Amino acid sequence: MTTVTVLGLGEMGAALAGALLTRGFKVTVWNRTPGKADALLARGAGLASDVASAISASEVIVVCVSDYTATEAMLAVAGMEAAASGRVIVQLSTGIPGEARRMGERIEALGAGYVDGAILAWPRQIGHDATILVSGDGAAIDRSRPVLDALAGNLVPMGAEVGASAALFSAVLAYLAGHWIGFAYGVALAEAEGIGAETFGDTLAAMAPVLGQDNSHMGKVVSLGLYGDPESTLRTAGADIARLVRHAADLNLNPVFPEFASRIFADGVEHGYGPEEHVALAKLFMERGPGRRG
Ligand code: NAP
Repeated sequence: MTTVTVLGLGEMGAALAGALLTRGFKVTVWNRTPGKADALLARGAGLASDVASAISASEVIVVCVSDYTATEAMLAVAGMEAAASGRVIVQLSTGIPGEARRMGERIEALGAGYVDGAILAWPRQIGHDATILVSGDGAAIDRSRPVLDALAGNLVPMGAEVGASAALFSAVLAYLAGHWIGFAYGVALAEAEGIGAETFGDTLAAMAPVLGQDNSHMGKVVSLGLYGDPESTLRTAGADIARLVRHAADLNLNPVFPEFASRIFADGVEHGYGPEEHVALAKLFMERGPGRRG
């Protein structure tokens, strides 16, 4: 069975190491702050005394620290080339595509294979129904596959472009930012109206399949350019959102979110997208930020 090291034992790293122990892997761990490994050691993990010996202990090294800067700091120690050569390093810390590409070059210069991944899951989902995106060299992905399959119920290979996982993660995170802010504002409104937070949450949960279909629909509209056949127009949705600003005033709620959302829809209408699908807002963002790779 593949031997595996986990570097970084925060909330996510500890869950990764725990899931690998559950699956019977021989796991070596290291964390900058001592003490976080104790529960894993009690379950049979081995403790490395430093990063270089942690890396040389296993065939596959899973890195899960705060970010790529932390990963850089960990790798900048003496003896790294000798330790890393011939291993596969799987980066599961969150970053952006440029960081992933630079990290890929750095790891390959050490003579190791590199897989860049992005975790779209909570720690409690690791080892079960976690979605993990992976990209990079096919041979490195193949070598780390038993480890990746043990961590992710839904492993999504994104191809050889090493920044692809980080790119899709960023797109999903942008979606989640709207989801979290929208929920937070909606729940404040529901509470102020005496409806209650749980009723609000349960109503959205019951709508989840329809909202899921809407995401697929919007993706198709953008990819095929079918903005001109709307069931609901951007203008109509914009007027609904503008009404939220008046509702905020009635309830004396902080209007920052409805004002922000309303401004974006008004911008879409000003650009002439009013009669189109509401996802025509994407054209605003595409116009203003032409694709650049950093
Ligand atoms: P966390 O609990 O805050 O843990 C951060 C880890 O990074 C700790 O092990 C910390 O070591 C280590 N670290 C930070 N700076 C370091 C440095 N300069 N050198 C060495 N180690 C360093 O964070 P987390 O929730 O585990 O998240 C880890 C990664 O997983 C992040 O990139 C996050 O975006 C990603 N992720 C997390 C979740 C989640 O739900 N938690 C979901 C998806 C993705 P110390 O213990 O010494 O501080």
